[in-house]
Amino acid sequence: MARYTGPVCKLCRREKQKLFLKGSKCTSERCPLEVKNYAPGQHGTSRKGKFSEYGVQLREKQKVKRIYGVLETQFRTYFEKANRQKGVTGENLIKILERRLDNVVYRLGFAPSRKAARQIILHKHFLVNNVVVNIPSFLVKPGDIISVRDKSKQLDIIHNTLRRTKEDAYPWLTINKADLSGVFNELPSREDVKIDVNEQLIVELYSK
Ligand code: SF4
Repeated sequence: MARYTGPVCKLCRREKQKLFLKGSKCTSERCPLEVKNYAPGQHGTSRKGKFSEYGVQLREKQKVKRIYGVLETQFRTYFEKANRQKGVTGENLIKILERRLDNVVYRLGFAPSRKAARQIILHKHFLVNNVVVNIPSFLVKPGDIISVRDKSKQLDIIHNTLRRTKEDAYPWLTINKADLSGVFNELPSREDVKIDVNEQLIVELYSK
């Protein structure tokens, strides 16, 4: 499985925006964006940030890919799928990304970041509808139940993260802390997904 393995805080600095890729560090004073909100590299402070229309669209795409931890080929596949669906393509795209199992495990509070969620999914710690699923890109459907395997219920990473998670954090998910499970009740509305991106710019980019 191809994935980005470089320093993730650099990705936020490139976008000049918190992408919340490192769990609790992101909401603490240790987040580098709290002190150096400029692009990484030797010329980071001198970049004026003026982009062409294409540049703005490209940055928005990179931002969404980085938030969800998806590389170009798969992202393009998601876009094509979103484009074939009824409704607004950009919103469809966000809804597809929200269905990824690594995202759902992260949202349910079983992992501090999507990256960490990918790791523990790969190690077969989760069930979807009582079947082990170790594919982070697995797309969850409305009504699916995601749970921690019995043999994995003592994992510190799960308990430490769940402690900081509110059970009503996301209106489209039910989080059951008592038995370490959750339900993906329905597709979220775009308004409910609180990520600061303009997905319409991605639609325009791919429509050129
Ligand atoms: Fe981004 Fe989190 Fe690193 Fe801050 S700590 S730069 S939000 S990944």
